[in-house]
Amino acid sequence: MRPIGTAALLTAALASPMAGALTPPAAQAARTAQEMATAALTRELVAQHGEAQRGRIERGLKQARAFWRAEDGDSKAFAAFVKAQFAGDQKALDALFGRLEFTLESYFGHAHEIGRDYRWHTDLDLGPVLPVDEILSGYDPGAHFIDDAFANKLAFVVLLNFPLSNLEDRLKAGDTWTRRQWAEARLTDLFSRRVPAEVNQAAAEASGQAERYIASYNIWMHHLVDAKGQRLFEPKKRLLSHWNLRDELKSRYAQGSAGLAHQRSIQKVMERIVTQTIPADVIDNPLVDWNPFTNEVKAATVSDSDRRAPAGFKPTAAPEPDTRYKVLLDCFLAMKKADPYSPTAPTHIARSYEEGRQLPEARVKQMLEAVCSSPLLKQVAQVMERRLGRKLEPFDIWYNGFRPGASLDEAKLDALLKAKYPTAAAYKADMPNLLKGLGFSPERSAWLASRIEVDPARGSGHAMGAQRRADNAHLRTRVGADGMDYKGFNIAVHEMGHNVEQTFSLVNVDHWLLNGVPNTAFTEALAFVFQAQDLKLLGQPAPDAKALAEKTLNDFWGTYEIAGVGLVDTAVWHWMYDHPAATPSQLKEAVLSISKDVWNRYYAPVLGQKDCVLLGIYSHMISSFLYLPDYPIGHMIAFQIEHEIEKTGRLGETFERMATQGRLTPDLWMQKATGRPVGPEALLEATEKALRQIH
Ligand SMILES: [Zn+2]
Repeated sequence: MRPIGTAALLTAALASPMAGALTPPAAQAARTAQEMATAALTRELVAQHGEAQRGRIERGLKQARAFWRAEDGDSKAFAAFVKAQFAGDQKALDALFGRLEFTLESYFGHAHEIGRDYRWHTDLDLGPVLPVDEILSGYDPGAHFIDDAFANKLAFVVLLNFPLSNLEDRLKAGDTWTRRQWAEARLTDLFSRRVPAEVNQAAAEASGQAERYIASYNIWMHHLVDAKGQRLFEPKKRLLSHWNLRDELKSRYAQGSAGLAHQRSIQKVMERIVTQTIPADVIDNPLVDWNPFTNEVKAATVSDSDRRAPAGFKPTAAPEPDTRYKVLLDCFLAMKKADPYSPTAPTHIARSYEEGRQLPEARVKQMLEAVCSSPLLKQVAQVMERRLGRKLEPFDIWYNGFRPGASLDEAKLDALLKAKYPTAAAYKADMPNLLKGLGFSPERSAWLASRIEVDPARGSGHAMGAQRRADNAHLRTRVGADGMDYKGFNIAVHEMGHNVEQTFSLVNVDHWLLNGVPNTAFTEALAFVFQAQDLKLLGQPAPDAKALAEKTLNDFWGTYEIAGVGLVDTAVWHWMYDHPAATPSQLKEAVLSISKDVWNRYYAPVLGQKDCVLLGIYSHMISSFLYLPDYPIGHMIAFQIEHEIEKTGRLGETFERMATQGRLTPDLWMQKATGRPVGPEALLEATEKALRQIH
C-alpha cells in the first residue's frame, strides 16, 4: 500500500460523508459557497497578518474545515473562531505552543495519576478488594479527552495553527526536522481523527464479539480418536485454539518420536479449523468423539465432564458454517466505518502501519520476506532434523528444541533472594546497587532509583510509567510472604528496565510532547536488555556462548514462524478492502489461497509438503486486527538494540542515549541509536554467528 499525500487526503475528507448527505447539485452549491467563504477569510487573514503567513493560513483553514461539523457552528461562527484563534506571527505561535504543551502535560499527567489511584487497590497486594474497586478500576478519567477537545474547540485551535503530517511526510523530511517540528507533529497527531461515537461503538461491539468467539473455541482432547478408536490425549484436557493447541504441540517435543502422533493430530485439528471443515458439534463439546483425519463423529463413549448428553443425542459431521470468517468480515466492516473520519490514514491498514507502528507497509513486507527467504533457514532446519532424527513436517514451525544449556539451581537462587529481598521496600533500597551493577554511574543510579517507586503487585508484576515530569514511575513487583523468589526477581529486573526507559524518555526528553519511545517493541527490547543481566546481578556465571547461540536460533525460528503469519494477516486485510461485499465463504477461500501461497513460497522449501494452511490458524487474525506483524518486528528491534549495547560495551550510557531520543519514527530512532534503520540484519547476523557455535 502506497502512502498517500496529506493534501490529497484532506481533499478526500472534504468530499467525505462528513460534509453531510447532500444530493449532487446541492452538494456542489454548498461546496462553492464554502470555497467562496474560505477565500474571503483567507484574504482577510492575509491582510491582517501579512503575505508571509499565507501558506499557514491556507493550510490551517483547510485542516480546521476538514473536521468542522454543522454542530460546531455555521460559517459565521467558523470565521469568528478562526479570526480569534489564528496565531499570526512566530511570537504568538511560540506562546500558543508553550501553553498547549504545559496544559496537555498537566491534563494527561494528572488523569494518569487519578487512574492509577482508582486502580491502586486492585493492582496492589494491600488487603481485600472491595466491591467498589470494580467500579473504580473500570473508570478511565482520560477517556473523553478527544470528544471534549473537539466540543470545546481546543482541537480546532491545534488544527488551525499546526501542520498535520502523515508517515510519508515524516519519512521524506523527518531527519531534517527540528525537535520542535517533531513535537508539533505529535501535537496534531492527537487530533488527526474525529470518529463519531457510534462508529467507535460499532468497532468495540464487533471486536467484543470476536473476542467471545475466540475465547470459547475449545477442543476436548480426550475425545480425539485415531483410526483404531484409540485416545491419544489425557482426560479433561480442554484446549483453547490456537494458543493452547500450539503449546500442547510444543510440549510434545519432550517425548521425542512418542509425541509425533499427538503433534500430527493437533496439526489436523488446526487445519480443520482454518478450512472450516471441523464439525460444528465438536467445538467445545465433550459429548462427541471425533477422528480429525476422517472427520467421523460419534456420541462420546467415555464421560470426561459434568455434561450429560440429552436422550437420543446424535452428533453430525455438519461443518461449522464459516463462522470464523463471518466474525472476521463483521470486524472488517466495523473498522472500515472509521475510514472517512481519518483523513491522514483512510484505511485500517494505513492506520495500523502508518499511524500505529509508523513503518510503511512495503518496508515491513520486505523485512518479513527477508527473514522468510533467508538461506540460513535451511541450515537451521538441518540442525533440527539431526536433533529430531527425522524429516521436518509442517507443524515443526513450532519446534522448541533450541534451549540455553545450563540449568539453574533455582532453589538456591530462591533462598538467596528471599534473604536479600524480604519486602518490596528491601528491593527499592537496593535499586541503586542493582543499577550500578548494570553499568550506570553512581550518580545516575541514585537519580534513577529516586524516580522509581516500588509497590507490592497483586499479579506477577508490571511497570507503570509516569505521564508528567514531576511524577514518578512505579515498579510493581511480586514479593511473597517469605520474600522475593527468583521468578519474581527475573520479572522485577525486566520491569525495572521499563521503568528506567520510562524515566529517561519522560524526564530527560526536551519536549514533553515527544516523551516515550516509537512503539511497544522498543520498550520491550530495552527491558530485555536488563532482564538478560539478572544472573550477573546475583553474582552467578552468565550464560555461555553456546547457550546464547541456542537462544538466538530459538528467536530466529520464532521470527520465521510469525513473519509468515504476519504476511498472511496483511494480505487478508487487503483482500477484504478489495472485496468489501464478499461473503464469509468467499473470504474463507481467499484466506486458504493466501495461506497456501505464502506457505508454498517460504515454508514448503524448508519444511516440505505443499499447500499447507497452518499459517491461517492464529486467533489474533480474527480478533486483533493486524497486530501480528508486531511480533517479528519486535524480534528484529530487540536484536538491533542488544547488538548496539554489546558493541559499545557501555550499557548505562548507551541505554540512556537511546532512551532520551523521544518518540520519533522507528526508523529515525533506530538510525540515530545504531546507525541503521529498523531491519532484520542484526537478527540474521546473530543467527549466522550462532550456527557456527552449534554443531
Ligand atoms: Zn515487558
